[in-house]
Amino acid sequence: MAPRSILITGANRGIGLGLVKQFLKNEGIQLVIATCRNPSKADELNSIADSRLQIFPLEIDCDDSIKKLYENVDTLVGTDGLTVLINNAAICSVYEIEGQISRTYMRQQIETNSVSTAILTQNFIPLLKKASAKNGGEEYSTDRAAIVNISSGAASIGYIDDKQPGIYIAYRMSKSALNSFSKSCSVELAKYHILVTAMCPGWVKTDMGGENGWEEVDDATEKIMKSILKLGAAQHGAFINSSLEVYPN
Ligand code: NDP
Repeated sequence: MAPRSILITGANRGIGLGLVKQFLKNEGIQLVIATCRNPSKADELNSIADSRLQIFPLEIDCDDSIKKLYENVDTLVGTDGLTVLINNAAICSVYEIEGQISRTYMRQQIETNSVSTAILTQNFIPLLKKASAKNGGEEYSTDRAAIVNISSGAASIGYIDDKQPGIYIAYRMSKSALNSFSKSCSVELAKYHILVTAMCPGWVKTDMGGENGWEEVDDATEKIMKSILKLGAAQHGAFINSSLEVYPN
């Protein structure tokens, strides 16, 4: 078995683009929906020749854009619903405790990484419920219905100490809030058998991760893809890494 459909946000570059390529290697997956802010400029994504790939615009900070995406996806998936939602799009900028004080700058990271991701997820719950009811099977699995929130080890409050770089305070806050939302979703959506997990992808060489990252995009996303397909009851509500090991909250 494989999930029927997968939606990945922020899929024009980095980990999102890598995940699109990895999931398309699995012939059991019928539909991969890739979103990006400006599809006409997403050259690498557009160059993927696979009839199972559908590309739609999404500016995650814009409610109208989310609603339009919902309509597009609803039309596409019909009564099957959406099997897996991967909330990948995010931003990360330096924000230090003794640096420049900026409400706008701090709020932007929280807005995109946690608030907008939560709003998008809320919008898509009807399609995930439809998939779960139609697919049935295991109580929690990515073949049935799942939300994967791409988080970060930086979200772990338990890991914050003086050995960690203190330059990403707003990013940390945003991903901790995302983890809180993820856990709440896992409790509230359990009755629909929608699996919800928060996953750190590892330190990956992307525009965000930088050139010192530990893993290349292809290697990292192959690992993430395999782990996503293995998700089950043990990962429901958990904060995990891409090897399915649990992180401290
Ligand atoms: P990149 O910066 O390479 O890509 C980010 C993606 O998010 C881009 O497609 C970008 O689109 C999209 N995006 C950002 N803001 C918005 C928005 N407002 N609306 C729609 N799309 C948006 O990041 P990575 O691929 O490295 O990161 C992917 C995920 O993994 C993120 O959630 C990140 O926090 C997490 N992560 C990454 C790590 C790493 O080492 N790389 C480590 C830990 C976590 P656009 O091109 O238009 O800007």
